[in-house]
Amino acid sequence: MAVLQAQGLGVTYQAENGEVRAFRDISFSVEAGQFISIVGPSGCGKSTLLSALAGLLAPTTGQVLVMGKPAAGISPHIGYMLQRDALLEWRTIWQNVLFGLEVRGQVNDETRTRARRLLDSYGLGGFADKYPRQLSGGMRQRASLIRTLAAGPDILLLDEAFSALDYQTRLQVTEDVYAILKREGATALMVTHDIPEAISMADRVLILSARPGRLREDLPIAFPGLGRRTPLSCRSHPAFQTYFDHIWKELKRDA
Ligand code: ADP
Ligand code: MG
Repeated sequence: MAVLQAQGLGVTYQAENGEVRAFRDISFSVEAGQFISIVGPSGCGKSTLLSALAGLLAPTTGQVLVMGKPAAGISPHIGYMLQRDALLEWRTIWQNVLFGLEVRGQVNDETRTRARRLLDSYGLGGFADKYPRQLSGGMRQRASLIRTLAAGPDILLLDEAFSALDYQTRLQVTEDVYAILKREGATALMVTHDIPEAISMADRVLILSARPGRLREDLPIAFPGLGRRTPLSCRSHPAFQTYFDHIWKELKRDA
């Protein structure tokens, strides 16, 4: 079932010195449990596209369907995770994880249990009473993901969520996040400028053109014969380099 659909989506900003067309005429459909990576030149409208999908921004043209229904405003089905982990420094990890639920008035026994289970399963159970500054960058990012997941979203949007991390941490966080999302059966769309990262996690890579971004290609990713796929394990599959070369070439057409 398609959990998220973009139909002829476009956003034009009204700026002081005229209009800025961020992206135009983007259509695609995401099935439950899929992981979609979105790549494109800087400024081509990727963040704007995620905001429109999340309902934070009304599209200028087209529409977004969430769980088959036209979206109006911020969807409770969608969780959004940004580049900065946005943890609140004066709150403990536990209080941070509950924050999104608090804002929505959804703190109850069931959601508290889910939050607790997420913290425990993902190695942060012993850190519930610590403050964000007492955690490493990778742990903070995991805490941030758990906060997003604690609200029980059906669809997760990640905007350059790992780009503030150093390379090694980033590889490890990618492994962790991938495992978490697969285990929770989450559907995810991730914007990244890192081509290997995009390929390593994705079932499909959406390649956007330069601004105003259009959908240049919807590229299916598969690694035949790979037993249990993880972001690291697929990097050594022969198909990986082929995908990389192809995406690189497509992105260079705009440079
Ligand atoms: P990306 O995430 O792909 O780098 P963005 O979605 O952030 O691209 O931005 C797309 C274009 O829209 C850019 O040219 C940017 O300057 C412009 N833009 C982004 N936000 C606004 C805004 N609030 N008002 C006017 N223009 C904006
Ligand atoms: Mg952006």
